[in-house]
Amino acid sequence: MEQTFIMIKPDGVQRGLVGEIIARFEKKGFCLRGMKMASVDKSFAGKHYQDLSTKPFFNKLVDYIISGPVVAMVWEGKNVIATGRKIIGMTNPSDSAPGTIRGDFAIEMGRNIIHGSDSVESARKEIALWFPDGTVNWQSSLHGWIYE
Ligand code: UDP
Ligand code: MG
Repeated sequence: MEQTFIMIKPDGVQRGLVGEIIARFEKKGFCLRGMKMASVDKSFAGKHYQDLSTKPFFNKLVDYIISGPVVAMVWEGKNVIATGRKIIGMTNPSDSAPGTIRGDFAIEMGRNIIHGSDSVESARKEIALWFPDGTVNWQSSLHGWIYE
């Protein structure tokens, strides 16, 4: 089954949105396979955002991610990468529809609350970076009520 890496950014943690965000993925029917709170340094944040290292906003983005603790998670389910991005909304909260996390809770791109992997390849890399010791292998007893 597909897995994605989801991170509640420092603003999401500070604003008390951890429970709200977890609830949205949980109620959808996705399965939480790993979760930890962490404070990361510049070098680790740079690794996570390696693909964006040439972008003009890269340094600002790294400073944002290291500004406080984050909550890192692995969620599993059918199409969880693409669906997770839909639950999150667009990169710019101004373009995010109400009902999405960024549409409901954020205003600016540099304070957009949450990260989600954008492809199978980035999910694989991000899960390996954040959870080098692996995740928890379990299946919800509701599985048969969520999948036909
Ligand atoms: N970002 C920014 N300015 C931009 C584009 C992106 O500050 O012009 C930040 C924003 O917080 C975004 C993160 O950089 O979430 C990573 O950018 P990406 O294009 O991967 O967006 P995402 O996948 O998070 O929607
Ligand atoms: Mg991205």
